[in-house]
Amino acid sequence: MRAPLRLIPALLLLFGFFPTTAFAWGEHTLASYPALGALPEIANAAPVRIESLEQFLSAEEQSLVTVLAEEEQWARANVPNYPERPAALAFEATGNALDLRERFVRAIRINPNSRLLSYTQRVPRDDRPGCQRIPASRITFLRNIMYLSSVTFCEYQPGQSIPALDVVASGADEPDYGLDIGLFEDGETEFGKQYGFGAQPFGNPALEFSSQAPFHMGFFHESWIVYQLAPFLGRTFPEYRAHLYMTLARHAFATGHDYWGYRFMGWGLHYVQDLTQPYHATVLPGVSVFKMLWINFLNVIGFGTGQKRAVQLVSNRHLALEDFQKRIMKQSYVSGNLDYPIFAALEDTSTDSGYGTYNDRYLRDVITVESTDRATELDETLSEAMPEQFVQDPEFNFDSNDNPDALIDAIAQGQLQTEQKMAEPLGVLFRSFGAHSRNYARAVLE
Ligand SMILES: [Zn+2]
Repeated sequence: MRAPLRLIPALLLLFGFFPTTAFAWGEHTLASYPALGALPEIANAAPVRIESLEQFLSAEEQSLVTVLAEEEQWARANVPNYPERPAALAFEATGNALDLRERFVRAIRINPNSRLLSYTQRVPRDDRPGCQRIPASRITFLRNIMYLSSVTFCEYQPGQSIPALDVVASGADEPDYGLDIGLFEDGETEFGKQYGFGAQPFGNPALEFSSQAPFHMGFFHESWIVYQLAPFLGRTFPEYRAHLYMTLARHAFATGHDYWGYRFMGWGLHYVQDLTQPYHATVLPGVSVFKMLWINFLNVIGFGTGQKRAVQLVSNRHLALEDFQKRIMKQSYVSGNLDYPIFAALEDTSTDSGYGTYNDRYLRDVITVESTDRATELDETLSEAMPEQFVQDPEFNFDSNDNPDALIDAIAQGQLQTEQKMAEPLGVLFRSFGAHSRNYARAVLE
């Protein structure tokens, strides 16, 4: 069988310009407040006293040695295709305060430039007192942060007390601020060469944002032939992150460090929430396996535009969904009118228990099964409900479009009734976002 082997480079190409610049959901904080605010254990929790990361680590240096060693054993046994953490990075209790933070950051293999400041992120029009506003450049090392210019970030000092919900909802957006960027060995970072994650499975290592995608997406339910031809698609690791942060959160709670308990919970929630986005759980929604292989075959024999067009369309719809969700939520917060069905769906706890309790297989067997199931229909809905240029024109590149308001302006001018048409499908997605977020949080707190 030589033919399938010849297809491999073409598939590599196909996923080379995969929509990896996207975030899944725009600002997880916007949806995390209603979702976790509906969980009394968090909404009614006593305010938590902020500790710096160094304070937490120096108090728990000894106990973290065992916790992180066991976590590594768990990951090796349970995460498919898990890239083992090199022994040299294992966390050890040396008592040296000077490199304590660095030793921890390297043991959990996140970007060592992560700021990890004590801060919260607010939704629009939340003007409760006590916020010492800081620019986005204080909380992230990312360079392209224009999109954060309207977001309110507040800095706090260790010793101050703040609501648990603020910590969780802010933490849920934090993994999009660089924690998972530059971790692969071909990403031209010094730590990427030591972390043991290997080469970036897909996406373009030269693009700042693309390298986090394999941690924030989970392609667990593609056809066997897709994995056969493109085995790198099996190298996605949200299960590793969600479990690691749950372990750290539980340990922080158990040892009396509630602030870090809620913050690690927020970090873990991010991956749970990302996978409720069908475009983060399916490689090419709306494109059948047969069509994928056909497009790919055409490329092999020299008719290569089909694949670029298919990927561009999926990428545009992915970004249109995310952009629309973020805008509609922000507008609602700004106007003070939270009637758009997305908000009621987020607070609706009626489906939570139907999913069963959270377990180690939950991301794979529950969340992504559901989001994969929804992908094709959602793709169709988007192509019908959004202005044509953004979702049906493969020549259009949503990502390199200069006007950030282009979609929302087109929706406002058009006669598509996009808001009405998207209300129901977004309600479905965000009911799951809320339910899975709470089920994860319950498992942390149990
Ligand atoms: Zn993400």
